[in-house]
Amino acid sequence: MNTEPDFLDIFQTAVKDLPHGVDLLHNPMLNKGTAFTLAEREKLSLHGLLPPCATTQEMQVQRIMGNFNMKPNDLEKYIFLMALEDRNENLFYRVVMENLETMMPIIYTPTVGKACQTYGHIFRRPRGLYISANFRGRVAELLANWPYEDVRVIVMTDGERILGLGDLGADGMGIPVGKLSLYTACAGINPSQTLPLTLDVGTNNVQLLNDPLYIGLKQNRLRGDEYDAFIDEFVTAAQARFPKALIQFEDFANINAFRLLKKYRNRILTFNDDIQGTASVTLAGLYSALRITGQALKDQTIVFLGAGEAGIGIADLIVSAMVEEGATKEEARQQCWFIDSKGLVVKSRENLAQHKLAYAHDHEPLPDLLSVVKNLHPTALIGVSGRPKKFTQPIVEAMAKHNERPIIFALSNPTANSECTAEEAYTWTNGRAIFASGSPFEPVTLHGKTYIPGQGNNAYIFPGVGLGVVACEATNVPDEMFSAAAKTLAAMVSEDDLDMGRVYPPLTSIRKVSAAIATAVAQIAYDKGLARAPKQEDLRAFIESEMYQPTYQSYTDA
Ligand code: NAD
Repeated sequence: MNTEPDFLDIFQTAVKDLPHGVDLLHNPMLNKGTAFTLAEREKLSLHGLLPPCATTQEMQVQRIMGNFNMKPNDLEKYIFLMALEDRNENLFYRVVMENLETMMPIIYTPTVGKACQTYGHIFRRPRGLYISANFRGRVAELLANWPYEDVRVIVMTDGERILGLGDLGADGMGIPVGKLSLYTACAGINPSQTLPLTLDVGTNNVQLLNDPLYIGLKQNRLRGDEYDAFIDEFVTAAQARFPKALIQFEDFANINAFRLLKKYRNRILTFNDDIQGTASVTLAGLYSALRITGQALKDQTIVFLGAGEAGIGIADLIVSAMVEEGATKEEARQQCWFIDSKGLVVKSRENLAQHKLAYAHDHEPLPDLLSVVKNLHPTALIGVSGRPKKFTQPIVEAMAKHNERPIIFALSNPTANSECTAEEAYTWTNGRAIFASGSPFEPVTLHGKTYIPGQGNNAYIFPGVGLGVVACEATNVPDEMFSAAAKTLAAMVSEDDLDMGRVYPPLTSIRKVSAAIATAVAQIAYDKGLARAPKQEDLRAFIESEMYQPTYQSYTDA
């Protein structure tokens, strides 16, 4: 059993030494706003500081939703929600959790991307920790300034490749903030145990460097040994200050993402969601699709458009999964083909980036996706190029010619970058495509049948994986955890879901999904001797009991 104080203990300590009056109203973790009861107001010197009518959290949710719906655009909605999080965290999470399908595209992609693009201009209150390269040598000191002791999940970015938007420097802080909100909303990681963090190593974005309102260091990016030493200093200091914390690397550029993952994955509790989380959610979608086609994974020929973090990460996990089904690694790799901006990735191409080499097969060069589909007859197309409209009608029709149920995953975000729309995929294949996308699409009705396209949202995976490794205090995150997460997620897709064309369960079941994934992940940690916490008899019940709920505590006994 974990002997460290859990959040409840922290909370009860806080209740004992509860601040009074305005200090209490200004503490977002403890503030209840108008929901302080009259008895609490009496006890905590709040009379007069609040309007006389005490309300319930339900009424507050109603008021928030009314205000939210009046906001003229998504960015204004984002700003409104961030302000709510800054003044009343429980209410923020109650609102988000009860309206997840509406809120997720606001607090995370795509709106968070817009917010990051203008972060310095909409900046109101700092959230998270900014550690700039000016503080090299003093990282431990800055980490000591963080007010919460028991941090369990750190999401950390250097802002170089924010979503598909490129180098946004310190303005990328919206991503760790948003991602951690999803850890809490989707998997119940306690907000007091999360730490959004930006390592500000400068930016090469000229527009930002010239923007007087930019919030980060106005210098070009640190590179080479100096950069590596800074990351190392951070990792060492973070481990010393928060020894149980998962450090999730987020939105690093390809040049650093793959090598940092390789460097740290066996040394510390870490993973890269852009690579491994994406891989897991896509593999889950494939497992569901194969329930429809009745085929084995190892018999698929998969063509990827885009050979970046998402594509290579997905292929690496598919290869592990094919190996589990009896293929050799070499055979499995041979089933995965990549097209990048220069055409088919083949052995004869010069200067291929390191991360593409394993998938550079012996084949004549082919210039474009259509010729690749016609030559290789893939069973599945996975779009991760970040470029819109690349799955054209002739390409999708060629897929439908060779496959009874072609698998078409157009994963590029945001919606405008999708390789094709759900409507196009269904229409061009006469309803035969098994379609999933990165951004949500509305249901499509074709010849009287309604299809509900699945969204391969990483939020199905990373919160559950995070909860699992935190619950058992794992030391590492091996790949098995991501394949187990994929299998668990796919198993939660019902026959009815599949019948409607949906390869993922509805987002409304996300807390159950996360609890199931967390249990599978923690079980692997125990099986492989990677868990530091003693095992609970009923792992699932224990994990569910640890999940944060956004209800208010009573302060009248304080
Ligand atoms: P990345 O920048 O690492 O990789 C993009 C790749 O696309 C590069 O290899 C690039 O060479 C290639 N590319 C660019 N233009 C191309 C073209 N015209 N034809 C073929 N290839 C081209 O980015 P990433 O992290 O791999 O993400 C790629 C896309 O996948 C983004 O749009 C992102 O939003 C999306 N994504 C979706 C999910 C999800 O659905 N769950 C998760 C992660 C990423």
